[in-house]
Amino acid sequence: MFFIGVMGIDQKQKQVKSFEAIPCPNCKEEPRGRLIKTYSYFHVFFIPLFKWGEHYIILCDQCQQGFEVSKEKGRQIETGEAALTYWDMKPLQPLQRRCPDCGKVLASDDNYCPKCGRTL
Ligand SMILES: [Zn+2]
Ligand SMILES: [Zn+2]
Repeated sequence: MFFIGVMGIDQKQKQVKSFEAIPCPNCKEEPRGRLIKTYSYFHVFFIPLFKWGEHYIILCDQCQQGFEVSKEKGRQIETGEAALTYWDMKPLQPLQRRCPDCGKVLASDDNYCPKCGRTL
C-alpha cells in the first residue's frame, strides 16, 4: 500500500547545546552536561509539517540524571540569552541518595559509603 509510512507522527530528540559545567544538584563538582530538545511532529513524506509539545531537558554526563527546564528558559539557553542556573533544573526522576563526600550512589540502607568509607 503506497500510503503506509508516508504520513505520521514522530518524536524527535536533538542535542542543542553542550556545557562544560552544569550546576547538577547530584554532583559535587560541576560536571559536563547537555541540553536536549524533544518534540513531537507530524510529517508527510518525511517533511515535518508542524510540531508541538516541545520540552527542554538537561542531561548530566556524570550521574545521568535528567532535568526538565521550562520552555522559555530552554529557548533562552539555546540562543545564549540566559545561562543555566541551579534553580532551573527540575529533576525528572527523584534524586538518588548520594555520598556527600565522593558522590557515589547509595542504597537506602547503607550506613557507610562503599566507595570512600564515610559514615553516614
Ligand atoms: Zn550530575
Ligand atoms: Zn563516599
